[in-house]
Formats: sequence, C-alpha cells, structure tokens
Amino acid sequence: MVERRFDVVVVGAGPAGSTTALRLARAGFSVALLDAQRFPRFKPCGEFMSPEVLPMLAELGVRDELACAGAREVRGMLLHGHGRVVQGRFIDVGGAQAPFDHGWAVRRELFDATLAGCARKAGVELLEGHRVTGLLRGGAGDVEGVECSSPAREKLTLRARFVVGADGTRSRVATELGVRRETPWLRKVALVTRYSDVPWGDRAEVHLLERGFFAVAPVEGGDVSLNLVLDAAEYERAGLPRDELLEEWLRRTPALGERILRGRRIDPVRGTGAMAMSTTRQTFDGAALVGDASGYVDPITGEGIFFALKGAELLTESLSRALHAGRTDARALQPYLAGRRREIAPRIAFSLLLQRGLRHPALVGAAFRLLAARPRLVDTLVSVTGDYVPLRELARPSVWWNALGTPRGAA
Ligand SMILES: Cc1cc2nc3c(=O)[nH]c(=O)nc-3n(C[C@H](O)[C@H](O)[C@H](O)COP(=O)(O)OP(=O)(O)OC[C@H]3O[C@@H](n4cnc5c(N)ncnc54)[C@H](O)[C@@H]3O)c2cc1C
Repeated sequence: MVERRFDVVVVGAGPAGSTTALRLARAGFSVALLDAQRFPRFKPCGEFMSPEVLPMLAELGVRDELACAGAREVRGMLLHGHGRVVQGRFIDVGGAQAPFDHGWAVRRELFDATLAGCARKAGVELLEGHRVTGLLRGGAGDVEGVECSSPAREKLTLRARFVVGADGTRSRVATELGVRRETPWLRKVALVTRYSDVPWGDRAEVHLLERGFFAVAPVEGGDVSLNLVLDAAEYERAGLPRDELLEEWLRRTPALGERILRGRRIDPVRGTGAMAMSTTRQTFDGAALVGDASGYVDPITGEGIFFALKGAELLTESLSRALHAGRTDARALQPYLAGRRREIAPRIAFSLLLQRGLRHPALVGAAFRLLAARPRLVDTLVSVTGDYVPLRELARPSVWWNALGTPRGAA
C-alpha cells in the first residue's frame, strides 16, 4: 500500500473543495485535493451564480478566465406562478449595495474544472479519479488522514494534519463521522439538461408548479440550462423515463415549454435525487465539513455555489490560523462555526422558510398577488437571493417602506 503525507487532505474538488485547497496552498500548506471523478465532469446544477459570487471569483483569480470563456451575465429573475409573472433585478437594499447588477451562469464542467485547475497551479496536488473510502483515526478518535482507491484500483493512504470533507451531499466523510442526516420532508428529484436554439434574454426564470418548479438560466454559447425539480413522490408516481417526464411537464407549462420545445436538446436528461440533508456537527478533532457536505437545502434560491465559496473562505481563515499555531482540535475552529452562524445559517433558514411556504398554494397565490402589485418588493426578494444583502437589513423599516410603498405604475 502506497502511503503519503500532507498538511491537509481535501476530499472533493467541487467549488468548496477547490477553493479550500487553493486558499490553503496560498497560505503555504501542502495540500492534496482528491476527487472521485475526472475533470471536466458533469454536476447537476442550475448553473446560476449570484452577484456576490463575482467578487469572490475575482479574489480567487478565475473571474477573467471565466468571462473570456463566455460566462453569461444574468440581470435578474422572472418568477412565474399562479398565472402571474413578476420580474426582479439586483438592487441596493437598505445599506447593502449590489456588487454588480448581474450574476453569472456558467456550465459546471467549465466552472469546476477552472477552479480545480487554478488550485493545481497554486501548488495543490490534484488527484483525479481517487475515491475516498474511509478515514484514518488516531487512538483518541481524531482524524489523521484518509484511505482512497486510485484509478488503477490501488489502495492509497494519505496521512494529514487535517482532513476537509467537501465531498457533496452524499459526503462519505460526513457519513464516516456519523453526522449526516437526510431531510425527509424535502425529498426531491431534479431532472437536468440543456437546450440550444432557444431565444432567451438575460434573465433566469423560475416557474412554480404544483409540486415543484422549473429553473432556467442562459449559459455560455447561447444555450440554456434547464432544471425540473419535483417532489420525489410525484416523480415516482409518474413512473416515466426522465426525458418523457421532462417533456410532459414542459407541455403542461406553456409559458416555458412553448419556447424550450422549439429548441434542440443538446444533453441527456440526467437525474439526481434526495438533495436535502443536514449535519449535526461540522468540526471535529482533525477534520471539518464544508459546502454541500456540511448540509444542503434545495436549489430554489440558487445559492449553493455561494455557500461553497463562502464556507471555504471562512474555514480556511480559521484553519490557517489553527495550523500555524500547531492546533488541529475542533475548538480551534470556533471562528469557522461563528462565521457559518453569521453568513450561512440565516440564508439556509430563509430558504427552508421559503420551502415550507411553497407547500401552501393559497399562501403562494397571495404572495404572487402582492408581488405583482409591488415591483420593488420583487427586486428586494431577488436581491436577497443575490447573497449580498445581510438578512439583518430586512429589520430596517425603510427597506419595507421602499419595497411595499411603491405600487405598480406609480412614479
Ligand atoms: C438540481 C440542482 C440545481 C442547483 N442549482 C444551483 C444554482 O443554480 N446555483 C447555485 O449556486 N447552486 C445550485 N445548486 C447547488 C450547487 O450545485 C451545490 O451547492 C454546489 O455544487 C456545492 O459545491 P460543493 O463543492 O460543496 O459540492 P459538489 O459540487 O457536489 O462537489 C463535490 C465533489 O466531491 C466529489 N466526491 C464525492 N464523493 C467523493 C469521494 N468519496 N471521494 C472523492 N471525491 C468525492 C464529487 O465527485 C464532486 O466533484 C443546485 C443543486 C442541484 C442538485
């Protein structure tokens, strides 16, 4: 068995893992970044990135590369539901200024490969096709590394001062640590594909359905990325092949289907299920969880990439300090947990609240009537999902005065 040693082993080279590895390498640590797959690889996603992600990408040094590769600007959101359409832009809300008036949409094959490539250039040892199969534990239960299998099915032992689990919603690391919990009331299935030759503007669209939603965003090359998210029970009841089920729902949703079905599907319809999960702990002696591996709600507000990048930023600040001080215990990572409570937990709570509200059609109908009458309220809602508005801004009466005070058509 081959055995190697690093300061940090990061499991999973999605946005959370690559960003964590890149930041730690820049801080001077030796880092191995493992992924079970090879890049570029597909990842089911709506492929929308909020405005707040763009400065983060600039800081990481990948924004120009992605812009040159054709990342599409997304200047707001159209929400369709209950026979109404409302349109929101990214605006300043209270004291929170929009860093840009747009977010981005980029194919995940391109985005994730670019970030992983940037980590490699910074000195990270990127081990593609390496699947982690277990954790190495010390006598006191502390994590001391990982076991993995190489593409040649060789067993490898990677010893490390610290292990980061960034291996997504089905995290092996979180499972091994015994902290991963499913969220049964949010059991959803997503069907994901892309179309070309669809006339599309510069907005993303969400079409609410009785038991789910469509989300569509324009991506590089003039194509659109399309997700259908359904309650798992609805998907199972239909019992149709994925492509037939998708087309049936597109026909049932003419405001979207009439445009999409005139185009050409350029990717297979891929499915993913049981996305929502939580973890009971995120820091351990010798290990931590970040990104989807630390918990994930549902894609409706399109914030998972922000959570991944922000989580990586908070973790690496805390972990760099701890490692420089010679510490790897869970207590040394308190600032990471405090940052998560401040920056991530309120947004997850907001998303969960939204999910619960969406289960009550009368409530959704009333919300759409209000949104249709108050365009500034739609801008405020869309801006909150843009990740630059701290939720505490919503406690300012002036925010509500602005959002509710200007009816449609008023000067
Ligand atoms: C249908 C859908 C639509 C979405 N739409 C959006 C959107 O529009 N905008 C947005 O911001 N977010 C969206 N999200 C969420 C977003 O995709 C995730 O939050 C984001 O990818 C999380 O990044 P991550 O790095 O934590 O995990 P991932 O991107 O899942 O990366 C995890 C990596 O770990 C690797 N891995 C897994 N197990 C192992 C193992 N045992 N050993 C080694 N490697 C392993 C995987 O191969 C993978 O590359 C959506 C999600 C879904 C499911």
